[in-house]
Amino acid sequence: MTLSLNIDTRAWRANVRSLHDEFPGLVPVAKGNGYGFGLDVLAREAARMNDDCIAVGIAREVEVVRAAGWSRDIVVLNPWRPFDPVATALLDDPGVITTVSRLEDLDQVSRSHPRTRVLVEIRTSMNRHGITAEEIASVDVSSVTFEGWSLHFPPTGVLAEAQRLASAAVAHQRGAVWVSHLGVLDYRKLRTHLGVRTRMRMGTQLWLGAEESLTTTATVLDVHRVTRGKRHGYHQARAPRDGWIVVVSGGTSHGIALSAPPSQKSLRSRTVTVAKGMLDAVGMSLSPFTIAGRKRPFAEPPHMHGSMLFVGGAEPGVEVGDEIPVTCRLTTTTVDELRWN
Ligand SMILES: *Cc1c(COP(=O)(O)O)cnc(C)c1O
Repeated sequence: MTLSLNIDTRAWRANVRSLHDEFPGLVPVAKGNGYGFGLDVLAREAARMNDDCIAVGIAREVEVVRAAGWSRDIVVLNPWRPFDPVATALLDDPGVITTVSRLEDLDQVSRSHPRTRVLVEIRTSMNRHGITAEEIASVDVSSVTFEGWSLHFPPTGVLAEAQRLASAAVAHQRGAVWVSHLGVLDYRKLRTHLGVRTRMRMGTQLWLGAEESLTTTATVLDVHRVTRGKRHGYHQARAPRDGWIVVVSGGTSHGIALSAPPSQKSLRSRTVTVAKGMLDAVGMSLSPFTIAGRKRPFAEPPHMHGSMLFVGGAEPGVEVGDEIPVTCRLTTTTVDELRWN
């Protein structure tokens, strides 16, 4: 009765391992919903890989990975702010590395918590957090334990920018350079170019890169015959034609949205648009659930733990107890169960 993430354990771990080989200094990122696995599971996998450091998104996630048994260094990726008491409490924690992204914050941390382990973030073309390239010259890390520079890049075409910013930073203050979203070759070039230790933060590619090793499935909980015009659901909508209401596990509490995330490829194909147009005409939207090889429309918006689908025709194509594939983004999905196959 669950939404399940099914893992081909060997293939999945092989990908995790080969990325560790390709990216020396890799730092696994375990944040948010743990990329669908949960932070605890990722912390244990990082420990299994004998990683020396893990990255979490926010200060509150530190205790979650520790509760899962993680005992080595933890980097908090979201930059420290003076109004975050949880992050501030961690400034005294010897196992935590704090990211600082504004000169005034570096100044405040230096004065209030000398010797705190600090990464200084530099703003990139992401334009999210970080000191500007012009401010590098003003960075004074003499009162903190300087762990290095942090740069967060958009996913492609950033080697030149990485080399320019990181070189300027390292020239001002030697230290490790922590990056994200570089390809293998670019990462290697950057390491050689800089001549300092580099660290590669990686989440999506590490945990979700081996797509074939992961499938999400739902369970069919009920199948009811309906004739055209028969009412169903909270909204008492009418069946657009003769067919079946199929009730499956997986609803809003799992992050199952009203429509399936279309792939880039299907966005380009007209068939999706045509199918969507037809569904719109009967007030339905395509669900992420596949029955008998096809995505089926929601009979009405998803419920908390389950969804009602509509399958037209003489045969429902499924029976109670069947497992059916669900297309979902694991970063926005909370599954009930992990199945390590
Ligand atoms: C989330 C995050 C990462 C990891 O990003 P992925 O795309 O999941 O690999 C790396 N660095 C920073 C600063 C992040 O916030």
